[in-house]
Amino acid sequence: EASAKVIDGKSVAKEIREEIATEISRMKESTGVVPGLAVILVGDRKDSATYVRNKKKACESVGIKSYEVHLAEDTSEQEVLKYISGFNDDPSVNGILVQLPLPSHMNEQNVLNSVCIEKDVDGFNPLNIGRLAMRDREPLFVPCTPKGCIELLHRYGVPIKGKRAVVIGRSNIVGMPAALLLQREDATVSVVHSRTKNPEEITREADIIISAVGQPNMVKGSWIKPGSVVIDVGINPVEDAKSPRGYRLVGDVCYEEASKIASAITPVPGGVGPMTIAMLLSNTLAAAKRANNFE
Ligand code: NDP
Repeated sequence: EASAKVIDGKSVAKEIREEIATEISRMKESTGVVPGLAVILVGDRKDSATYVRNKKKACESVGIKSYEVHLAEDTSEQEVLKYISGFNDDPSVNGILVQLPLPSHMNEQNVLNSVCIEKDVDGFNPLNIGRLAMRDREPLFVPCTPKGCIELLHRYGVPIKGKRAVVIGRSNIVGMPAALLLQREDATVSVVHSRTKNPEEITREADIIISAVGQPNMVKGSWIKPGSVVIDVGINPVEDAKSPRGYRLVGDVCYEEASKIASAITPVPGGVGPMTIAMLLSNTLAAAKRANNFE
């Protein structure tokens, strides 16, 4: 029975973090500057708090200084904008990250647009996305999750040029930028979304599948062309009485079936997840290098 190679995001992410740590000490030695990342968290969502904690820990592990602001759920939008404006002006802060989702009384667009493009390490400023979409333009930052997907393909030597790629999902933060990135790498890209009539048929044409939907086990073995490469971004909790937490996390892709048909596949967890944080560190380092004219 054929068995796909496991694309080990956890170990690739570790390798990347080590490369970043080396670069940061080189920069510190030559300029005296260390990169800084400001993280703004509003409200008390447990999952958001966990993400912020993990990002902070990852920063420390490579030598990035992190500045955390934790604000109450009922904080006004104006107050958040004030913090962002302060960080925009603070030269020790190279990247600014606003943990999403924001409380419903805030306008997410206003808040994200207020992060200056030079510090937009999440790559969510429309100017960055616009440049990503245009030929011969370079975004200052590429969104972390799709960037992590492409980095995995590169590091595993998966050819992209001239290949058929299918992205399932078209969100601003994952699906859409993933499709733009694959196209920049000369793949021929189709995007499948909730209104697509024949998702299975289209997905089966793909040499490379990136799935970012949020539906557990939606992509079955029958959707997958033998030998294709599968990148599963989905992180979906499903009930599991055997787990102490009462649930476990699975991807969008039915791993059992897909791993018998694909040539390579990312696990969930341990695939794209760790890469997202590694790319955030990488973007923050890039911001600091740019701000300090350090190559
Ligand atoms: P969104 O909910 O913003 O977007 C989901 C996309 O999937 C939409 O474009 C939607 O289509 C499409 N979709 C929904 N149902 C179907 C369906 N039945 N068939 C085809 N397409 C469908 O999610 P995100 O992009 O933010 O996240 C997607 C998944 O990735 C989630 O599980 C999330 O937890 C995970 N994630 C993982 C990260 C990581 O670091 N590994 C980071 C970010 C997200 P339409 O546009 O038509 O509504």
